Amino acid sequence: MLKKIFSHLSLVLRHKHRVFINCAKCGIPWRGFVHDFSKFTPTEFFESVKYYQGDRSPIGACRRATGMSNAWLHHKGRNKHHIEYWLDPECEVTPLMPYKYAVECVCDKLAATRVYAGKGYSRDLPLLHWKKHGNKVNGNPLTMQFIEKVFSDVEKNGEKYVLNKKYMTETYREICG
Ligand SMILES: [Zn+2]
Repeated sequence: MLKKIFSHLSLVLRHKHRVFINCAKCGIPWRGFVHDFSKFTPTEFFESVKYYQGDRSPIGACRRATGMSNAWLHHKGRNKHHIEYWLDPECEVTPLMPYKYAVECVCDKLAATRVYAGKGYSRDLPLLHWKKHGNKVNGNPLTMQFIEKVFSDVEKNGEKYVLNKKYMTETYREICG
């Protein structure tokens, strides 16, 4: 148990550290700093410790074991950088994710891919994950287009090409207006 607590804590901190670096490069350091703070609430923390995997998210493991994940339901309702936060079936179109959260979203996915893949990381992985899982969510079409465009550019030109304020503002404006 104690070992899992420290492994999970270390994973979260490594992830937060990388998200902070990515967000800072894009000019939104505050979003990087407060990123995923709800992971320290008991609802999220203890479930993730119990289902700790190390090489992928504990949320999927909990879902497979129990049919649901309270940590995820808690997390997605409080963190605007998740596409799922913006889902509202009562709206005709899912609301557009505002700029700073959309940038935090791609910074998060890039960081998570690196932390989980470790030495196996390659620049085509973010787009691969996106096409396999990420784009199955019924997000705002422009938000989805923005994320896919960023990951396509990572595959073509690497992270450095996208992780800066100029690229992000121009790409967001071009796609989301
Ligand atoms: Zn999150």
